[in-house]
Amino acid sequence: MKIYIALLLVFLMSACSEKEQKTARENPNTDLSVLVAVTNYPLHYFVTRIAGDNVTPYFPEIEGDPAFWKPSSEELQTFQQADLIVLNGASYETWLPYVTLPEDKMVNTSYSLSNPLIKNDKALAHKHGPEGEHEHGATAFTTWLDLQQASQQAAAVKDALTNVRPDKAGLFQKNFIALQKELLSLDQKLRSIGNRLQHTPLLFSHPVYQYFQRRYGFSGHALHWEPDRMPDERQWQQLELLNKELKAQWMIWEDQPSKDITKRLETLNIHSVVFNPASNHSENEKQDFIAVMNTNVANLAAIERNHLEAGK
Ligand SMILES: [Zn+2]
Repeated sequence: MKIYIALLLVFLMSACSEKEQKTARENPNTDLSVLVAVTNYPLHYFVTRIAGDNVTPYFPEIEGDPAFWKPSSEELQTFQQADLIVLNGASYETWLPYVTLPEDKMVNTSYSLSNPLIKNDKALAHKHGPEGEHEHGATAFTTWLDLQQASQQAAAVKDALTNVRPDKAGLFQKNFIALQKELLSLDQKLRSIGNRLQHTPLLFSHPVYQYFQRRYGFSGHALHWEPDRMPDERQWQQLELLNKELKAQWMIWEDQPSKDITKRLETLNIHSVVFNPASNHSENEKQDFIAVMNTNVANLAAIERNHLEAGK
């Protein structure tokens, strides 16, 4: 008898979950099949914050910087099947001209930016580094490091999501407002720091801080260094020559540079500070986009503290 009841229970449970699955497929309001493909982590974060589990986000597993990623044929197929393709724009997706994607599914979030895009100077568009071989295009692409621009991109994401899930317009709007508030609060903090540090020259390890500099008024010069790759002697000489004029005591890095690099920079009286663009998932899973940006702001505050102390 006991066995019979147990079997009956198993039967009922499986029947029930099958029925639920069927309902989920048939009812568009619980539709998990609305597939939203994105090309970097900030866009992935905006989609999940705004839509929650009302869409299925697709952000491919990418090693390194998604700006220098190219989709495999499988990844491209998923993009082609997506209900919505959210692009960063600003020449971020260099592979786009070489593939076929449905025009009516694509949304370029940089079209919504109120300020013009920044042109890269020509010298930047060159390849470098054996393992990190990549090219920077004609346009600076790290648009979201101007947090006001990030909120404009998030607004474009919200509009696009609303188009594919009009039944969720109210919820998406509410979630967007909460996100926008956090982005603009970060923007405000960075503006304050920028105001106070506007006469402090900075070195940038990689040319990805153009919008950040424009919005927050940081002055300085970008090198083309990688945090895990010891620059060669020629690069060190260039730095010393450059810094004779610039007299920067701080270098902003995308990630924590290796100890060798940090040490050698210290001998030149240059301190390393991380401002992570958050282009990809953080290695620390608990650190979402906003958390990474908060850490960045706290890191910049170290410059500010030192600056104030020196000024006393
Ligand atoms: Zn580069």
